[in-house]
Amino acid sequence: MTAHPGTIEKICIVGGGTAGWMTAAALSHKLRGLPVAITLIESDEIGTVGVGEATLPAIRSFNSALQIDEAAFMRATEATFKLGIEFRNWGRIGDRYIHPFGDYGQKIDGLPFYHYWHRLGQGERLDEYCYGIMLAEQGKFRHPSTNEGDIESTFGYAYQFDATRYAAFLRQFSEAEGVRRVQGKVVETSLDSVTGHVSHLKMDDGRDIEADLFVDCSGFRGILIEQALHTGYDNWSQWLPCNRAIAVPCESRGPLTPFTRATALEAGWQWRIPLQHRTGNGHVYCSDFITDDEAATRLLNNLDAPALAAPRQLYFTTGRRRQFWNKNVVAIGLAAGFLEPLESTSIHLIQEGITELLQIFPDKQFLASDIEEYNRRMSLNIERVRDFLLLHYVATQRDDSEMWRYFRNMTLPDSLQEKIDAWLTRGHLVRYEFGVFLPPSWVAVLLGQNLIPRRHDLRADKAMRDKIAEGADALRGRIRSSVERASGQAEYIKQVRAAS
Ligand code: FAD
Repeated sequence: MTAHPGTIEKICIVGGGTAGWMTAAALSHKLRGLPVAITLIESDEIGTVGVGEATLPAIRSFNSALQIDEAAFMRATEATFKLGIEFRNWGRIGDRYIHPFGDYGQKIDGLPFYHYWHRLGQGERLDEYCYGIMLAEQGKFRHPSTNEGDIESTFGYAYQFDATRYAAFLRQFSEAEGVRRVQGKVVETSLDSVTGHVSHLKMDDGRDIEADLFVDCSGFRGILIEQALHTGYDNWSQWLPCNRAIAVPCESRGPLTPFTRATALEAGWQWRIPLQHRTGNGHVYCSDFITDDEAATRLLNNLDAPALAAPRQLYFTTGRRRQFWNKNVVAIGLAAGFLEPLESTSIHLIQEGITELLQIFPDKQFLASDIEEYNRRMSLNIERVRDFLLLHYVATQRDDSEMWRYFRNMTLPDSLQEKIDAWLTRGHLVRYEFGVFLPPSWVAVLLGQNLIPRRHDLRADKAMRDKIAEGADALRGRIRSSVERASGQAEYIKQVRAAS
């Protein structure tokens, strides 16, 4: 097939981490059959960040858009199923709740169930009406039903996987789709003297690589978007001050829990991500409140099995690139920005970046309006995530350390303050345009961290109290008996791995 005049013929992706290979896989698959050549450059010497193991349910649409078989994916990446995140010690020390991927109860007359629960006086835990939470609490898993109306259709799931293996899996996929991989280091970037666009890259072995469109997936370095184009970075440390992490894998012990755990600590929090072959652990913290040595000791003391490797130290500044797309460079992944991994949102933002790029796929002309629209959408996406992450730190009663006191005295972004105010007055959740976290996620964190609205939506008063109570009892019963029949996650994974 010949190219139309003016269309993109050459794409160069710089970086072979999760972002680079996800981009290569999606572009090569979606542009298959068109006269577009895709090259991916990665450096074995520099390597990848190597963390990023917990995901959100949307990853399933990414895999299925590429027609990736779930069993093959689970075998290749040692993935487990993830029904949500267990938060410990966030509202108060000793508290615990699960943020599920799914709703609580079922809507009645279009009104979310939690309003009726509020009207009933919050007798039973709201969790009892959430299928995903009840399944997670039992350490069980099953695929959701595809029949709307079934109680088993009311939850979603994501994966926890070995990120390095996922990148390798997608590399194989992309190369089969025709992506050319170049191993080596980019040492120089040349800009067009008229347009200021990136024209070609020089490799350490002297090769030149040119392209029409460049995707910068070079990680925190941002070698094109920042080092070459000086796009600038909005630093969000005043809201999300955690700036370091120490990561260490340990042996897998005990039952394979179908959720990630995030335990709040004095100067940050600790993650625990169970995979089939090992458990990932990390301590995310703010260097103003704890030293690296103390943070490492804290992490190692909290492991539930022997470590499998030496701890790895990571440094970051939370925030975002001022433009995600600048001239002919689109930054995806850590090159575009990073918020901390509390709600496993980075891989999701990579996916959003790729989806939007495909939606607004440019010509060589690079219309300013396309670039603006892409930047608008991605800005909203990342700001929504920022607000949701910040909610965990401010919807709390903790004041036992300097870090928690810091959050108590913070002025919140208006978008978040308005959301919390509407919730507290009448349990209303302002729906954002864009943003991955829907109302049930906000309900989980707000209630899980003890922010109970003063009253429910008036419409919940229309129904008869006895009728609501009867319906709620029946719902709990249906959930319980269905969860009873489900298998443990380890056993379920064994069956999935064996399939096709
Ligand atoms: P990298 O993995 O850093 O890859 C950069 C690539 O660019 C590499 O291939 C490198 O070789 C190449 N490169 C760089 N410079 C050059 C050069 N000059 N020449 C050639 N090649 C070059 N995300 C989640 O979704 N869930 C999580 O649970 C999660 N946990 C995280 C925990 C921590 C502590 C951190 C820091 C991040 C976490 N993330 C998580 C984020 C996730 O790790 C990243 O979003 C994801 O790995 C993508 O990284 P990347 O591909 O952008 O960058």
